[in-house]
Amino acid sequence: MFRDIRWRIAIPYILLILVVMTGLAIVLTRTTRNAQLDALQNSLSTQVRALSASIPTALQDPAEENLDTFARSWSQLLEARVTIIGVDGTVLGESDGIREQMNNHLNRPEVQRALATGEGSSSRYSQTLQSEMMYAAVPVIVAGDTVAVARVGLTLEEIESNIDQIQRAILTATVIATLAAVVVAVVIAGRTTRSIQRLTDVAGRMADGDLDARLHLAPRNDLGDLTRAFNYMGDQLRDQVQDLAAERGRLEAILENMADGVLITDELGQVSLLNPAASRLLEVKEKEALGRSFAEIARHHELIETWQGVYNQRQEQMVAVEIGRQKTFVQMIVSPLEITDQQGCLVILQDLTHIRRLETVRRDFISNISHELRTPLAALKALVETLLDGALDDPPAAKRFLTSAENEVDALTQMVEELLELTRIESGMVPLQLAPTPVANVIMPAIDRLRPQANRLDITLTVDLAEGLPPVLSDASRAQQVAGNLLHNAIKFTSAGGEVTVRAKAEDDEAAVLFYVRDTGVGIPAIELPRIFERFYKADQARSSGGTGLGLAIARHLVQAHGGRIWAKSKEGKGSTFYFTLPVANEIVDQDEAGDFTSGAEPNIAAA
Ligand code: ADP
Repeated sequence: MFRDIRWRIAIPYILLILVVMTGLAIVLTRTTRNAQLDALQNSLSTQVRALSASIPTALQDPAEENLDTFARSWSQLLEARVTIIGVDGTVLGESDGIREQMNNHLNRPEVQRALATGEGSSSRYSQTLQSEMMYAAVPVIVAGDTVAVARVGLTLEEIESNIDQIQRAILTATVIATLAAVVVAVVIAGRTTRSIQRLTDVAGRMADGDLDARLHLAPRNDLGDLTRAFNYMGDQLRDQVQDLAAERGRLEAILENMADGVLITDELGQVSLLNPAASRLLEVKEKEALGRSFAEIARHHELIETWQGVYNQRQEQMVAVEIGRQKTFVQMIVSPLEITDQQGCLVILQDLTHIRRLETVRRDFISNISHELRTPLAALKALVETLLDGALDDPPAAKRFLTSAENEVDALTQMVEELLELTRIESGMVPLQLAPTPVANVIMPAIDRLRPQANRLDITLTVDLAEGLPPVLSDASRAQQVAGNLLHNAIKFTSAGGEVTVRAKAEDDEAAVLFYVRDTGVGIPAIELPRIFERFYKADQARSSGGTGLGLAIARHLVQAHGGRIWAKSKEGKGSTFYFTLPVANEIVDQDEAGDFTSGAEPNIAAA
C-alpha cells in the first residue's frame, strides 16, 4: 500500500506535520506551564506574607482555641488552602483538611525552606486534598523568634486544564493538517498517475503491435516533455519497424523465389531457416525441418560430414553429390555464419542435375559422333588397303570393293547431311512453308514409300484415319519427314510377323490432330526412353545398326517448330508407340510462333 504514489507523496508531509506539531506542543506546554507556575508562585508569595502578618494577633487571641477558624476565614478570602504549622511541625490551623488527622508537617519541603531561608515553595501531590498543589510558606516571627510557619496552597488543576486545552487544540490542528496533506497528496498523485497511466496504456498498446498509438500532447507541465519524447520514440520505432518489415519482405521474396536452396543452422546445428528450394532439394517439408538437426534432414553422409566440418574448422567447404529419390545432383556450399554472437552455418544448395545432364549429352555426343565416323572410315580404310594389296589387279573384285566403298561414303554423306540439317533446324535456319494440309497427305507418302520394305520383312502395315479429320497447318514435306522417320523406325525395330499401325485422330479439344505410330517390335528400356530424342542417342547400340541416331532429334525439332508435341511410350519386348501432334488449320495460329524452330516444350516422354 505504501508503494502507492499517493502515499509516497503524503507520508513526507504527514511526518513533517507531526514533527512540527509535536515540537510546538512540547514548547507551548512547557512555556505556558512555566509562565502560569511563575504567576501562581508570585501570587502565593504575596498571599502567604499577608497571612503571616496577621497570625501573631490571632495567636494572642485567647478565644482562639486553635487556628482552624482563622485559617478557614483566610482561606475564603484568598480562595486557597491555608495551613498554620507550629515550629515543631504540628498543624495549628487548617482550612481544607481535618487538622487532627493530619500528620507532622515539619518535613514538608516548603516548610523546611521557609524555616531555613525565610521563604519556601514547592509543588506536589497532596494526599489530603487528592490533588496536584503548589505551596508557598513563610515563617511567623514574633519578637525575633519564629513561632510558626504560615502556608498557602493552590491547586494546579486549572493550569493542567489550560495546558490540556492547548494540547487538544494542537492535536486538532495536527489532525486537520494531516488530513489536508492526504487530500493534497491524493489530488497531486491523481493528476500524476493519470498521465503515467495513459503513458503505460499507450506503451502497452505499442508493445502489442499498435505502433500508431500516441499520447495526446499534454499542456506544458512536467509530463509535456516526456509525452513529446515518447511520441517521438513511437514515430522512430514505427519507421524502423516499417523499414525492417520492408527489408524482411524483400529478403523473403528473394529467398522464396530463388532457384538455389538456402538453409541456416544455428549454434546447436538445428535448422532455423529453410527456403522452398532447399526443402524441395532435400525432399523435406519446411515445418518438419525447422528446429531439427541438419544431420536428420540431409540424410546423406557426405552432406552431413561437410556441414559438420564447417562447425569444426569454421572454413567454407563444398561438396557435390547425388541425393534423394529424384537422384538430384546437388552442389552444397557451407559457410560459417555469425549472427550476433552465435556461430551457425549458411548452407547453399544448387541443383546441377540439368547442367550435369547437358554435360553427359555433350560427352555422349562427342563419343557417338566419333564412333559413327570411325566405323565407316575403318571400313573404307580396309577396302582401300585391300585394293592396294592387289585386289586392283582383279577387276571384278575391285569393282565390288569400290561399290562397298561408295556405300560407306554414301552413309557418311547421309550422316553429315542429317547432322547439318539438324543443326540448321535447331538454329532456325529452315523456314516452314505452313499451309492447310490434309491428314492423309502427312501420312500416306511415307506409307507408300515404306510399304514394299514392310512387305519384304513380313510386317503387317495398317493405316487408320478417323473420318472427317480437319486439315493440319503444316509444312507438308517436313510433316511427311516426321511421319517417315517414325514409320521407318517402327519397321526397323520390328521383327518378321510383327505389326505396325499408323493412326490419326482429333485431340479432345479439337485444336490439334494426334498422330501415332505403334509397333510390336523390340521396345525401348524405361531407363533409355527419356533420352531417345537426343542427337545420336541409340537405345541399344547393338540392335540399331544402320541408323545415325539423328532421326528422332530431327523429328522432335520439326514437330516443335510446328507448335506441336512429340513423345513416346514403350514396353521392352512388347513394342513402342510414338505420338506427335500438329495444330489444325482452322485454328488461329500465330505464324511467327509456329515458324520459330527453337520454341516448343521438351518432349513429354513416359514409359508405358
Ligand atoms: P536411328 O537412326 O538409330 O533410328 P533415331 O533417332 O531415329 O535414330 O532413333 C534413336 C533410337 O531410338 C534408336 O537407335 C532406337 O534405339 C530407338 N528407337 C526409335 N524408334 C524405335 C522403335 N520404334 N522401337 C524401338 N526403338 C526405337
